[in-house]
Amino acid sequence: MPSDLVIVYHRQPYEEVEIDGRIVRRENSSPNGIVPTLKSFFGRVGHGAWVAWKLADDPADPDWERVIEIEDSFGQYTVSRLPLTEAQVRSFYHITSKEAFWPILHSFKERYNYDPVDWPVFREVNWAFAEAAAAEVAPGGVVWIHDYNLWLVPGYVRRLRPDVKIAFFHHTPFPSADMFNVLPWRREIVESLLACDEVGFHIPRYAANFVSVARSVFDVAVTGEEKTRADFAPEGMALAEHRVPTRIAHGSHEVLLSAFPVGVDAAYIRDLAEREDTVARAAEIREGLGECKMMISVARTDYTKGNVEQLLAFERLLERRPDLRGKVRLMHVSVTANRNMTAYEEVQSEIEQIAGRINGRFGSFEWQPLSLIGTAIPFRELVAYYRAADVAWITPLCDGLNLVAAEFCAARTDGDGVLVLSEFAGIAVELSEAIITNPFSHRSMDSAVDQALAMGEAERRSRMQALRTKVARYDIRAWAAEQQRLFDAIHLPDAEPL
Ligand code: UDP
Repeated sequence: MPSDLVIVYHRQPYEEVEIDGRIVRRENSSPNGIVPTLKSFFGRVGHGAWVAWKLADDPADPDWERVIEIEDSFGQYTVSRLPLTEAQVRSFYHITSKEAFWPILHSFKERYNYDPVDWPVFREVNWAFAEAAAAEVAPGGVVWIHDYNLWLVPGYVRRLRPDVKIAFFHHTPFPSADMFNVLPWRREIVESLLACDEVGFHIPRYAANFVSVARSVFDVAVTGEEKTRADFAPEGMALAEHRVPTRIAHGSHEVLLSAFPVGVDAAYIRDLAEREDTVARAAEIREGLGECKMMISVARTDYTKGNVEQLLAFERLLERRPDLRGKVRLMHVSVTANRNMTAYEEVQSEIEQIAGRINGRFGSFEWQPLSLIGTAIPFRELVAYYRAADVAWITPLCDGLNLVAAEFCAARTDGDGVLVLSEFAGIAVELSEAIITNPFSHRSMDSAVDQALAMGEAERRSRMQALRTKVARYDIRAWAAEQQRLFDAIHLPDAEPL
């Protein structure tokens, strides 16, 4: 059945688990996260489809079930599963996306690795996604593509189906031209993005960077007014940070631009935080802390997340402030996700080494300053930790948005708690009432943590109230409504399918 909305996202929209040697599909265990949000669009359109990849030993296997129908709590929808070989996944995802694109997107030029990229494989995989999307979408329907590993899909879909709306959302930062243009495929990527009807980002700075990149490689005109996100601007002072370019044109084709941060499901987190068992669990965690203040830090292990810099700041704190020894504990969650990738393994072993040193230098039989946790904590348990913590210490070196910061605020239904946030997390533009810090500066990191630990209750509560108001206003529903508004704002010229 042709679909009014086709979501193109590299992961499948459910979890696949092996039970008694059989692969069983089940709905994602937590309604928190982007997959359930995207699926919620299916409830609003006539029929929806999703395109993802799935590992195949033999992509030519005649028994491969390429298109399946799914029925879950979001209704009925089609999933088109592209059979990719291990070699294709390695090349397109682990090498091109993670070793070449990821460092550039996050402004780590020195980590950029160009040599192993096999560009024809990247094109081939993106073409397969585009073909699958083009086969599913109804005339006038929307193809909505997500993230940098599918950068070439819009251009290909436009060629195959000039009669449909094409939208793209970046879940990462988008860097400035002097960083992005390191990519030798920049023209091809930008040309594809300019084939979209709408390109979305989390924050205005990324949209502005995209405009500067596009103008650096093509003759692109800025045709729309700037829109000011006044409510992000502290004291009404709108900086470039708060102004979104809204429309550009490449030849006769216009592209809408948007900047709207993906939110969290604030109502769901609030309910979870208020459940009796969560409150009891938080109280149990606090009891275990005795008189200690608790700081919490949660991230994937990734050089962009600044785990090493934060642990070094914690070590300095215990050096600088002997008064805090025995009085403060840091729970540092650093989830190892990308196994078998040297860059991540290096960061992981550095984290483990520093963590061991901190506990060795300062710990005693009664007091262990640092708990390093390497495996993912179930979301419900995480919410209990958010509630129990005095300070959330979130200091990435560069991060597209950072949902943990918003989740922490949403979970603080008690109205207390301090958020220390890196200015290089996209969400810092929105959450300006946090203690904003620069993780590249020892002085800034040290003073932010001192300020957080010393903050009086009245100030904690007034900042948290402002933070919670924003997190509730810019929650996941607001983001979804904005995306729908943008789809509706696209006007297609009359075009016949090829
Ligand atoms: N998360 C989790 N358990 C953990 C660590 C993280 O459930 O042990 C979740 C966290 O609640 C958040 C997501 O993983 O929803 C991380 O999102 P974020 O935007 O902070 O970072 P990303 O990993 O997408 O860069």
